[in-house]
Amino acid sequence: MIIVMLGAPATGKGTIAGLLEKSLNIPQVSTGDIFRKMIKEKTELGKLADSYISKGNLVPDEVTIKIVEERLNQEDVKNGIILDGFPRTVNQAQALDEILKAKGKKVDLVVNLETPKEEIIERVVSRRVCSNPECKAIYNVIMNPPKVDGICDICGSKVIQRDDDTEETITKRLSNYFELTEPLVEYYKKQEKLYNAVVSKSINKLGKDVAKDIEEYVKKGDF
Ligand code: ADP
Ligand code: ZN
Repeated sequence: MIIVMLGAPATGKGTIAGLLEKSLNIPQVSTGDIFRKMIKEKTELGKLADSYISKGNLVPDEVTIKIVEERLNQEDVKNGIILDGFPRTVNQAQALDEILKAKGKKVDLVVNLETPKEEIIERVVSRRVCSNPECKAIYNVIMNPPKVDGICDICGSKVIQRDDDTEETITKRLSNYFELTEPLVEYYKKQEKLYNAVVSKSINKLGKDVAKDIEEYVKKGDF
C-alpha cells in the first residue's frame, strides 16, 4: 500500500507516519530525513540541499524526484511505503504517478493534515529532534519533552533543534507550502484519494489520535 502524507510543516506528518509505520507495518520514508542525513554526512548533494533548506526553500524537483525514484527501487519498500514530505509540488506528484505506473502501482491514500497557523508556529519553535539519524525521535519542549533535558528517551543521543525550525524560516516554509504544495490537495481530491484530518490541541486531536483514526480507516478499507 502506498500512502502519501500531505500537510504544512509541523502539522504532524512525521509523527503520524512514524506511528503508522509500526501499526500498519509499512516503512516510512521522509525526504526531509534523507536530506538531513546527507547534510550531516557533508556529501555534495547534502551541501546543495542545505543551501535551499536553510533558507526555508524547497530543494529543486529534479534533485528530489531522483532521490525518491532511487529509494522506491529498494527492496524494503516493494510491498508498500509511507511517503512523508513527498510529493510537495504538482510536478513531483506527476512524476510519482509516472514512476509508480511503470511499476504497475499507484498512490492508494493521501492523508492531508491541517493545523491552525498559530499552532504551527508555536510547534515549530518548540520542536526538538533526536540528532541520531537512525532514531529521529520527535519531541516538544512544552507538550512532550524528553525525560532528561536534552537527551533522547529512546537512544540516549543529544536532542537538538533543527536549523530550519526558526520563526523566520517557518514563515518562508509556510508561504512556500501554500503556493507550491497546497495545490496537491485538489490534485489528489480529483483522484478521490484524499483523507482529511485536523490535528489541533483546540479540538483535542493530537498526532497519535489521528494516527489511530487512519489505522482504523485503512484496516477497514479495501486497499
Ligand atoms: P517540515 O514538513 O517540517 O517542513 P521536512 O523534514 O518534511 O519538514 O522537510 C524539511 C525541508 O526539506 C523542507 O523545508 C524542504 O526544504 C526540504 N524538503 C523535504 N521534502 C521535500 C520535497 N519533497 N521537495 C523539496 N524539498 C523538500
Ligand atoms: Zn534518539
